[in-house]
Amino acid sequence: MTASPGTASPAGGALPAPLDFVVEALAEAGALAEREGARAVALLPPGLAAEIEVPEECALALYPDRDGDVACGLGSTLLERLIARARGRPVSTSARLAADPPRPAHVRAAADRFALRNGLCEPGQISMGTAVYVAASVAHVVEADDRREGLVRVVVSAHDGGEPDAAVGAHLDLAWPSALVQPSAAPLAADGRAADWIALRAERAVRAAVQPLLGEVERRHARDHDRIVSYFADLIAEARAPRRRAEPKAVEAKVAHLVAERNAKLEALPARFAAKVTCSVAALVIAEVPAALVSLRLRRRKESRELVARLPAGASSLDRLTCEACGMATSRPAACDDRMHLLCEACAPNAQGRIACPACAKRR
Ligand SMILES: [Zn+2]
Ligand SMILES: [Zn+2]
Repeated sequence: MTASPGTASPAGGALPAPLDFVVEALAEAGALAEREGARAVALLPPGLAAEIEVPEECALALYPDRDGDVACGLGSTLLERLIARARGRPVSTSARLAADPPRPAHVRAAADRFALRNGLCEPGQISMGTAVYVAASVAHVVEADDRREGLVRVVVSAHDGGEPDAAVGAHLDLAWPSALVQPSAAPLAADGRAADWIALRAERAVRAAVQPLLGEVERRHARDHDRIVSYFADLIAEARAPRRRAEPKAVEAKVAHLVAERNAKLEALPARFAAKVTCSVAALVIAEVPAALVSLRLRRRKESRELVARLPAGASSLDRLTCEACGMATSRPAACDDRMHLLCEACAPNAQGRIACPACAKRR
């Protein structure tokens, strides 16, 4: 029996959705779980029972009203743990973008706009093919005095870590499926380097996304600190100027007591506002996208280097290149003097004169 929202009625024995989810998640994890109306009984393998911290044999209830019932409704610890467990395994999908390849005139215009900050770039041959991209959705949680969740997405080329423009990334956002995205005939693979680029860029994106949240935590921390200080300052002032006559010793004892209480409250604050940020990959989409490949000849003084840049369908500019020093993406690379390493603006902020190349330094 299954329940659909709005039709669940305990009298009819229909199962509300959270219990459905819990029973299915437990069964998938190797437990025996059987529903009985708005309740269920479950027999868990010892490992699973220890992991989610419930007895090996237990009764699950949406409304735990009997002794030993394990709550599994919205907000219950068990439901949260099973959701966390399900989220722990990223969903990965292979897809292809059924879009027309870019027109040659468009490709030439995009190639002409590409520039090396400290040298020349000559576009050469253009060919049509496909490119594989990996779009990763990375979930992050900020836990302090409250809990905030969010999602960032990073898209990288599986070939070289290049980064397509936002329009291509938007097509690969399966939370809002585009009609152009179709299942791939065979599963696509990306090598381990794609995982490295995703980890690197997701970390940067998560840092940027949680920055305002950490700022809010700090502000609440400061606000609570000020409130405690001013609240106790008032109490201490009152204690020092009692309305009725009091023994000076009794006054001092009261003040000392208030000071100790204030200090204890202040000392407890940092633990309450210590922010913990965790993140995990929630979903991966590996997609094949029609793309134009443009060979570029880059020149810097006497050195030169060939490379193949990509323009995927739907993009208005060539993929950003991967900085050979830090692994981030750049649309305005500079080349180092000795080996023509391509460097981002952070690694080579000044393209005038000789560049102290971090990529060359790594090789030494
Ligand atoms: Zn860099
Ligand atoms: Zn170099």
